[in-house]
Amino acid sequence: MLTVDQARDWLLQRAQVVRTTESLPLLQALGRILAEPVLATVDVPPQDNSAMDGYALSSADGIGPLPVSQRIPAGCQPQPLQAGTVARIFTGAPIPAGADAVVMQEQAEVQDDGQVTFTQPVKPGQNIRRAGEDICQGATVLAAGKMLTTADLGLAASIGVPVLTVYRPLRVAVFFTGDELTEPGQPLVPGHIYNSNRYWLVPELMRLGCEVTDLGIVPDSLSRTREILQDAAALADVIMTCGGVSVGEEDHVKAAVEAEGSLDLWKIAIKPGKPLASGKVGQAGFIGLPGNPVSGFVTYQVLVKPYLQRCAGLLTETDTAPARYPAGFAWERPDARREEFLRVKLVQQDGQWQLQRYPNQGSGVLTSCAWADGLVRLAPGQQVVPGDMLALLSIAV
Ligand code: AMP
Ligand code: MG
Repeated sequence: MLTVDQARDWLLQRAQVVRTTESLPLLQALGRILAEPVLATVDVPPQDNSAMDGYALSSADGIGPLPVSQRIPAGCQPQPLQAGTVARIFTGAPIPAGADAVVMQEQAEVQDDGQVTFTQPVKPGQNIRRAGEDICQGATVLAAGKMLTTADLGLAASIGVPVLTVYRPLRVAVFFTGDELTEPGQPLVPGHIYNSNRYWLVPELMRLGCEVTDLGIVPDSLSRTREILQDAAALADVIMTCGGVSVGEEDHVKAAVEAEGSLDLWKIAIKPGKPLASGKVGQAGFIGLPGNPVSGFVTYQVLVKPYLQRCAGLLTETDTAPARYPAGFAWERPDARREEFLRVKLVQQDGQWQLQRYPNQGSGVLTSCAWADGLVRLAPGQQVVPGDMLALLSIAV
């Protein structure tokens, strides 16, 4: 059995990053992954400017009284400051040559003769935003492989960049195997269950920014599975399936992938989770998730999501350091050989945050995933007693 970390590294090493890029205007680039670094060709701010509404002066002139020699609103280019005078200045306006400080207007008094005195001593540099204080020309503002956030788009705009080069979306084709599967909205005949996996997996992929081709339910037939795999390989970067990867007689995905491409099937020391299949069909990567909804959900979160993100071009870790909370539950009979991922919720007990676990941690109980705020990862054999500090792994994007 592979450890979870080994399986994750194995997948990451085999991730084929999308080759094509496209240029997008900033307002269309949110959530996309940057394919080329963005370098600053200007300083930000471009020149020294005032952080306050007030008066610009030479600090050597002290607290006045001093006459006002010019008015500098934001957006204009000032004259050099006449010696022994102050300039009326507004937030964001350029500092005139010869001035080295700004006094905020709340600390200024205008005399009857129009001269200005200040109520506080004036320190050199005060209330001045320096040119290049945010970004220096030549600096790498955004690194390739970053998923673009709203602040990133603002930052690109601040250096005057109107378009960004991003990877085209990862194309993922999915299908769901099982003669027992029925789509919601259809009557459930005896022996059938609803296709729940489709309705968490497709939105997860969409949330990652993938272009999803949903091929729906495929019956438990080797020939049909092979045909669908061929179709999927022609249009996708990655093919994903749910179910049919065990070694039962009705599990045809394994044989179909072997026939159409190549397959690595592993046992991973993860619970919930059954064998995860990985391989290639044509040029496309292949990932076969276990059919049990919770096994599929957890395996997706822990192993497959990082793989897809890498394929999509993501280089930075999206995982922030998980926060730790005391356990409000006991876990007395851990699995001796596999890491366990418990579905947990953050609750407040007597003003203290603590983690509760969903009572039924069974691999078919999808309620546990909907109820949970995240996962707690336990080492093989790790028991939990109330009060143990546990890291909460988010299952949000
Ligand atoms: P399999 O891996 O095909 O043997 O499936 C394992 C279990 O997961 C079986 O109980 C299946 O009925 C169930 N299952 C497989 N696919 C789905 C699906 N798309 N939605 C809900 N349950 C599923
Ligand atoms: Mg099946």
